[in-house]
Amino acid sequence: MGKKQVLVGYGLDVGAVANHINTTKGGPRNLTNVSRTKIRDAGHEITLHGYTHEFCSDLTREQLEAIFVKTIKIATDFCGKPPLGFTSPTWENHPDQIELMGKLGLKYDHSFMHDDFQPYYVSTGKEEMVTTDYSKHPDEWMVPMKHAEPSDIAEIPANWTLDDWPPFQWDGARPNAHGYVDPYSVERTWRDMFTWCYEHYDTYIFPISIHPQVSGRPHILMMHERFIKWVNTHEGVEWCTAAQMAEEFRSGRISGTGK
Ligand SMILES: [Zn+2]
Repeated sequence: MGKKQVLVGYGLDVGAVANHINTTKGGPRNLTNVSRTKIRDAGHEITLHGYTHEFCSDLTREQLEAIFVKTIKIATDFCGKPPLGFTSPTWENHPDQIELMGKLGLKYDHSFMHDDFQPYYVSTGKEEMVTTDYSKHPDEWMVPMKHAEPSDIAEIPANWTLDDWPPFQWDGARPNAHGYVDPYSVERTWRDMFTWCYEHYDTYIFPISIHPQVSGRPHILMMHERFIKWVNTHEGVEWCTAAQMAEEFRSGRISGTGK
């Protein structure tokens, strides 16, 4: 095995923290606030996550483009520089999302799951396939898929197992998010994921996604503190933003899965 370079980072869903602006379908909105000014002034990356946490998969192309244009302007005015990336709310995606992101100058996406721990250039989303239809003769749907080309958008893959919501958030709309998982169980899972990567890759990324209203609870904060200390015992660990992960990949300093 060669020299290790492990890029580890936390993404905080502050767009969702305003007591569920619209993070789950069907629930009434409850508008409170979060101080994005403190986050910006502390030097953290602020990136795009919709306007009110809209599900991209439910939008038309025109709606999605209008939301991108508006939120890019808001983030640029607020941060003094344009945002570089986008995370689709709840990782629900639109087939034109990547094309629009390229058109509007964004550099990376954090919404797809084609890989877990390696960055890659995500598909343009223009794959074509014929859906299996039992009512028709198989010759009509046994047709090879037409692959799309890779885009120029770097993908920092999303990962539900490295997300605090399913184990730690009671969510009546989602039966897999009951909120009462033992933090030591999640911590052990994350350690095993990290250890497997460390044993099998020289370079990899480890992007964790959390929500302040979920991970802000004392027993979960303690889990993060233990995990961070343990990660830091490994040689080659660098804590960084998703934009920095994407830049390391785009510049060729980590290989990812390539083009
Ligand atoms: Zn979100």
